[in-house]
Amino acid sequence: MPSKYQLFKLYQNYHKSPSKDMRCGTCRHLKTYHYHGKYYHKCKLIGESSSAATDIRLSYVCNMWNKDLKDLPIFGGSNVVKN
Ligand code: SF4
Repeated sequence: MPSKYQLFKLYQNYHKSPSKDMRCGTCRHLKTYHYHGKYYHKCKLIGESSSAATDIRLSYVCNMWNKDLKDLPIFGGSNVVKN
């Protein structure tokens, strides 16, 4: 059974970004922790834990890049990327 973190990444199409501008590293949901000399990158929408399951890569992106939580289908929004 996939975890809720895996499901978010799957449904929000988390993947390596072809763009240098539109990626987790520039997203407002990024949160970075410095712990014991290492940096750990987490996403506020995916959720945070001390597990590597919630780690994200700065060079990746998903459909929720810089969007609000209200855009998630569970809150009545659409997860379709609008151009
Ligand atoms: S919302 Fe998507 S693009 Fe933004 S930090 Fe989270 S996983 Fe990355």
